[in-house]
Amino acid sequence: MASSYDNSSEEQTELRRLHIKLISEINDNLDQKSIEYEKLFFYFGTYVPPGLIANKSSLDKFKTLCTRNIITPGENYEKLKQICRDSGNDTHVNTIEKYEKEMEKVRTRHRYTEIKMAHEIHLKNNKYRQWVKAGLGLGYLKEGLAPFCDDIGRQQHNDIINKIQQTKTPQPNIPCSACQITTLQPDHVRVSKGICPLKQDKCNCCFPNNKRPCPNNVCGAIYDSIIQYHASMPPVPFWKNSDVQQWSTEPWEVCKCFINAPGYKDKTSAVDTDCTGLLHVIINNKYFHSHIGCNVTGPNNLFSKIL
Ligand SMILES: [Zn+2]
Ligand SMILES: [Zn+2]
Repeated sequence: MASSYDNSSEEQTELRRLHIKLISEINDNLDQKSIEYEKLFFYFGTYVPPGLIANKSSLDKFKTLCTRNIITPGENYEKLKQICRDSGNDTHVNTIEKYEKEMEKVRTRHRYTEIKMAHEIHLKNNKYRQWVKAGLGLGYLKEGLAPFCDDIGRQQHNDIINKIQQTKTPQPNIPCSACQITTLQPDHVRVSKGICPLKQDKCNCCFPNNKRPCPNNVCGAIYDSIIQYHASMPPVPFWKNSDVQQWSTEPWEVCKCFINAPGYKDKTSAVDTDCTGLLHVIINNKYFHSHIGCNVTGPNNLFSKIL
């Protein structure tokens, strides 16, 4: 029966098998007479008491790193990679990274199996059928939307930066990490007291007193672009999720200005962002509309209905 299948322990078994293969492969490729061999185990001593491994075989030395949780089998090989780099054993770093990729594949495969199994089991249960369908739908939707949003967000960022570099004098100096949303002077200027030409309510252009232009001649133009790409009227970019200091280099920091809700400040990529946030980016960002073959605005559009 499907429900008796223990997916996570199968996953652990597969990861453990790969881990043992990895350690054996490194161990088999050690040249006991080389200086790198000496140095490798010397650096083990920065993580475990040297006396603990002194009289052990090389394989047992690796095992000690595992039992002391310096390496978490199947997960965390950062310290081992560092040891290899520090001791001039860079070829083993490549081996570790090869296995890390294999392990990631195992995890992804099991994640999908888990989703599918949860789906099957719960769909048999009438009481939960509707919400499970909805929940799984959102899960699948997010899996599909994240790479799309990531891709289009990058294209948009590229376009914005290219345009700024081609049109602005003096030549912008990228990156800029000197600006704050509370003090940034936009490129556009107010029409008259309290009137923003881009029609943003409470725009920085309307409060020029404590504002200063970007010293690198880039952030003010990005600020303008975000307002111009915002799909609602009046435009209402949500600045609080976003870190202006990363605007010139991080596409997702620009995308987050289109998420019209708090709680996304620490989300640094599309994959990090939940389904609601991704839908906000698509619905509120005009740049995305030209990449979607259906209506995403207006009261009855498919995207807003999901929210
Ligand atoms: Zn303005
Ligand atoms: Zn700046």
